[in-house]
Amino acid sequence: MKRVGILTSGGDAPGMNAAVRAVVRTALEHELEIFAIYEGYRGMIDGGDRIRPMQWNSVGGILHQGGTIIGSARCTEFQTREGRLQAARNLMAHGIEGLVVIGGDGSLTGANTLREEWPELVAQLAAEGQITPEQAQAHAFMGIVGMVGSIDNDMFGTDMTIGADTALHRITNAIDAISSTAASHQRAFVIEVMGRNAGYLALMSTLASGADWALIPESPPDGDEWEAQMCAVLDEGRQNGRRDSIVIVAEGAVDKFGNRITCEHVRKALEERLQEDTRVTILGHVQRGGSPSAFDRNLSTLLGVAAVEKLMALEVDSPAYLIGLKGNRVVVSPLMECVAQTRAVNEAIQQRDFKRAMTLRGRNFQESFEALRTLVRAHPRLPSPNQRRLKIAVVNSGAPAPGMNTAVRAAVRGGLNKGHQMFGVYNGFQGLRNGEIQEFDWMSVNGWALMGGSELGTNRKRPENGDFYAIARNIEDHGIDGLLVIGGWSGYDAACKLYAQRQFFPAFRMPIVCLPASINNNLPGSELSVGADTALNNIVDAVDKIKQSAVASRRCFIIEVMGRYCGYLALMSALASGAERVYLNEEGVTLRDLQRDVDLLVEGFSHGKRLGVMIRNENANKVYDTEFTRALLEEEGDNLFEVRQSILGHLQQGGIPTPFDRIQATRYAFKCIEYLEEQAALSKPGAACVGMVHGGYEFTPLSRIPDLFDEEMQRPIDQWWMDLRPIVKLLAQPSPRYFVEREGGEVGMIGEGMTG
Ligand code: ADP
Repeated sequence: MKRVGILTSGGDAPGMNAAVRAVVRTALEHELEIFAIYEGYRGMIDGGDRIRPMQWNSVGGILHQGGTIIGSARCTEFQTREGRLQAARNLMAHGIEGLVVIGGDGSLTGANTLREEWPELVAQLAAEGQITPEQAQAHAFMGIVGMVGSIDNDMFGTDMTIGADTALHRITNAIDAISSTAASHQRAFVIEVMGRNAGYLALMSTLASGADWALIPESPPDGDEWEAQMCAVLDEGRQNGRRDSIVIVAEGAVDKFGNRITCEHVRKALEERLQEDTRVTILGHVQRGGSPSAFDRNLSTLLGVAAVEKLMALEVDSPAYLIGLKGNRVVVSPLMECVAQTRAVNEAIQQRDFKRAMTLRGRNFQESFEALRTLVRAHPRLPSPNQRRLKIAVVNSGAPAPGMNTAVRAAVRGGLNKGHQMFGVYNGFQGLRNGEIQEFDWMSVNGWALMGGSELGTNRKRPENGDFYAIARNIEDHGIDGLLVIGGWSGYDAACKLYAQRQFFPAFRMPIVCLPASINNNLPGSELSVGADTALNNIVDAVDKIKQSAVASRRCFIIEVMGRYCGYLALMSALASGAERVYLNEEGVTLRDLQRDVDLLVEGFSHGKRLGVMIRNENANKVYDTEFTRALLEEEGDNLFEVRQSILGHLQQGGIPTPFDRIQATRYAFKCIEYLEEQAALSKPGAACVGMVHGGYEFTPLSRIPDLFDEEMQRPIDQWWMDLRPIVKLLAQPSPRYFVEREGGEVGMIGEGMTG
């Protein structure tokens, strides 16, 4: 393949631009010619200047923009053969042999139809004399690779669709805002979110925001009198001290007979039964809009790179493929199988086979729904008479991580609902030693879902010497028989120490579980820790602003980010913000590296480059620190460019947790309670840490940590994201070859693309 095209089609989704950028630059890097087809299939049919060649700089500075710069459209004409024939004519005219299509299942099906019909279309064009027989023979196949751009997250073949995470950001922000006004007036609110056949946004935003009820298409409320049941729970919640009542309704929510549940219906039910002032808010298109989240930028980028690679590897007559993400890894699946499964859910909903609809949505979806049913209760379920009631203590440890409170809330409510007694430990292991332990009830954690920081208080105290005795006494005094540690490495280390002391202190022979909560994402047994997503978004927001501050001058920024000795935040923020260089402790920094960077910058700025962004992990190198790097570049940059440093500091740790961190915290907490229950039933209860591994939840025994964790550097020995390093470079630094080939043209400014 020599010439390929890219289009965005159907509803726009934040993150599409990052995908376009990745596809264009990867294609150029592989020496393909790449054409953007503007306005989706409309542009393919119109042809002319709607099909334009793209250069490196055509996609500079778009990572942070919502929507799609190449336009999207719905186009009924493409659904006709005549329309597709015209499209084929235009594609042939440009010699386009393969397409990367970003859109929903409709757009992707359309692309597949074009691929299937292609030989006939080409034969017809040849028969009509519009192309030569040689042309027809040379272009007998149209390769198709798709990516899902849809805020609904309703497609098979990928854990997340492009735009869904950003939409969740918009929705959760809105619900957070509404809940503060609702609480002030003790009002009820009904909020409609998008999702015609998919409850993902409604379910996850309810889970993340701590709203009180959710209505989704896949699982209608059971019982004929669901309105009464819902109002009874909301009423009990009020009597129990809740100040707001918020019901989230998916656009496509139905009752068990398949009748649509409208917001108006819910509003009336609330007003009549609760006699409450009830307002309806339909969020509408704000959900689609705005700057993409860090996750969406990175998701789109990874998929875009893989899409071009897959397109190049297609054999003649190969079926269409879908590029998706499963458990942090890019996966490739047959496109039409994914479309068929996606449609099967819609059919199941239409046929009111809701059990099947839920099964098809998968385990994560079902478990999240179960967690939600627990969290929205007004009271915990009463313990059954013959069950074992545990006394479970929850402690925070390490630096504060956004999402810690969400995890505590979910653990307390999850535990209480299973009949256990829950205790909060204040001030970390220090508090456990000093006996700062308090029994928690359902309302003790009310409103904690969205709070940043740590309400319990957290520090890096690790038990030593006499602490063990004091801790054992407190555990015995309170009868604690399970411990949940939510935090970073100091918490894990403290848990390991208690575990190691089991032989001396019988009190420690209880199940212990650690839940990863650290912005650094440097914990063993998990690919993602709670807090890292918030920190990443905080960094990316800051970098976006810093870049905008430099419009007028030639400037290079060195931005220092946290992470201790782990480069996760540095690398992922470089990927999401289009930084051209990232310095990691894992790779080290040598004088030779810096020399090379100076040369690149000088070369770039003397050829029209205006902005440089370099991201540095705080401990990338002790000697060549941020100030040293700044001074060196400034000195060597002479009068060509200025260099500014920006040490982002604690803004990275603060703020309210992102929806992903809240959801993750909740899911982890429920898993941890299950683990403690299971282990408590054993004669020798285990101690472990929970984590996301390959998209699933796993428990790693604490005894295995020494094999997995580099204690000196405080990071896992094997870090999955290290494989993404070449992509940062690929997308931010054009290879010199690209410019040499295009010498003399206005596209030839080395480093212009480095602006992102
Ligand atoms: P989405 O891609 O977001 O699901 P639509 O279903 O509206 O959005 O599809 C977007 C466009 O894709 C349509 O306007 C049409 O041009 C094209 N398309 C959709 N379905 C088909 C189909 N079955 N055959 C051909 N083209 C289609």
